Amino acid sequence: MRIAVYPGSFDPFTLGHLDILERATGIFDKVIVAVLENPNKSPLFSVEERIEMIGESVAQNGNVEVDSFDGLTVDYAKKVGAGSLVRGLRATSDFESEFQMALFNRKLAPEVTTVFLMTSFANVFLSSSLIKEVARHGGNVDFAVPESVAKRLARLAENRGQ
Ligand code: ADP
Repeated sequence: MRIAVYPGSFDPFTLGHLDILERATGIFDKVIVAVLENPNKSPLFSVEERIEMIGESVAQNGNVEVDSFDGLTVDYAKKVGAGSLVRGLRATSDFESEFQMALFNRKLAPEVTTVFLMTSFANVFLSSSLIKEVARHGGNVDFAVPESVAKRLARLAENRGQ
């Protein structure tokens, strides 16, 4: 069985992420969306909330699993028996850091291959950080995120308004 890990912060999960995930499920038998527990970033949503929202967004998709991990991504991939890491590429701005990370990961674990999938026209300007910024100032980002994420962002905005 061909297993891939799609690692990321997903804070929050966007339609750009969903698009990459859906494409990956067409290539692999199982795709594990792996939420990185990164103590250096101060996230908007907890790892548990992110897992829940991703799960709700892909509920109808049987070959997707959602999990979290810390430490090296390649160690996690090896642990779950994945031969591939999936990453999305938007503009050239993603390229340099992704290239560097893929080469490092390949040094660390030559048996794990990074596969890059290109974003679509509709999602090329979507980023979690921009979405957070706009939502924080009360802007509507429903066009950019799955429904379960939109609901949570709206709830946060309501709580802030109280
Ligand atoms: P990280 O903190 O690891 O960069 P992100 O949650 O920002 O995690 O992104 C996870 C992966 O999804 C990365 O490979 C990133 O390039 C990709 N990605 C993010 N936004 C988009 C988008 N709009 N279209 C395609 N891929 C995307």
